[in-house]
Order: sequence, then structure tokens, then C-alpha cells
Amino acid sequence: MYQFSRAIYRELAPMVARSPVHGEVRPRDQAHVLRCCEAAVERLVTDRHYFARPARSLFNDIRSYFPMGSQIQVFRVVSHYLDLAQEFAARQPRAGYDANGDPLVCRATTRKGTPCQRTPLPHNGYCPSHQHLAATEDTEAIAA
Ligand SMILES: [Zn+2]
Repeated sequence: MYQFSRAIYRELAPMVARSPVHGEVRPRDQAHVLRCCEAAVERLVTDRHYFARPARSLFNDIRSYFPMGSQIQVFRVVSHYLDLAQEFAARQPRAGYDANGDPLVCRATTRKGTPCQRTPLPHNGYCPSHQHLAATEDTEAIAA
């Protein structure tokens, strides 16, 4: 997902308002804009059903860092990439389900020779009773 916040930031960074005193862009301002972009994309992924109008929300967070003349362009960039991020997030499988919407099951085979039906842990795909198989795999991978 970070490609979306980076893409937004890449386009917005050159537009960040210059300091009226020194005439240069303050790194602190750019860092703030980047953090806001990352937070918005992060929230789209983790909380998208409760995140109303993400583009409007991010734009409101960062608009004061841009000159008046850039506001429309800033909003266009923000809504373009957040739309893409939303489509992308909507295509991702739910936690515990595969890309077809079927529940994930443990990768192990039981002693009876049937596939284990228990819910796997996300980091290795094995249920708690079959964790030792993941450890064996790691050892084999190191040996190979
Ligand atoms: Zn299992």
C-alpha cells in the first residue's frame, strides 16, 4: 500500500509552500505532508468501512501547507491516488480468507491423511497444533 502514499507525496512535495521568510521549503512541512498521506492510506486499508470521504479528509489535513494557487491540483492528486488505493484495498482478501473468499485452512495433513481444517496462523499457514511443521520447513530451507 505504501506505493500510494509515496505516489501522492512525490507529486505534492514540489508544491509545498515556501516559507514567506526564507523563501525555501521547510523539511518539517514536507515531513508533515508525508505523514498525513501515510496515515490516510493506512486508514484506508485497515478501517476503510468507517473512513468517510478519505480524499476530503486528507486534503483538509494538508491543504494549509500549499499555496492558494495549488489547492485544486492538490485535491486532484489526493483524490486520484486515494481512489486507486480504495479500489486496491477492496480487491484484497479479508484476513483469514483467500483471494476467492474461502476460509484459509491449515496446510498440514492429519494422521488420517485428510487435510487439517483448523484456522492457520497468518505468519506460516499452520494451525497451533501443526506449528512444528513450519519449524521443520525452516530447518530444511537453511540446509538447502
Ligand atoms: Zn493443522
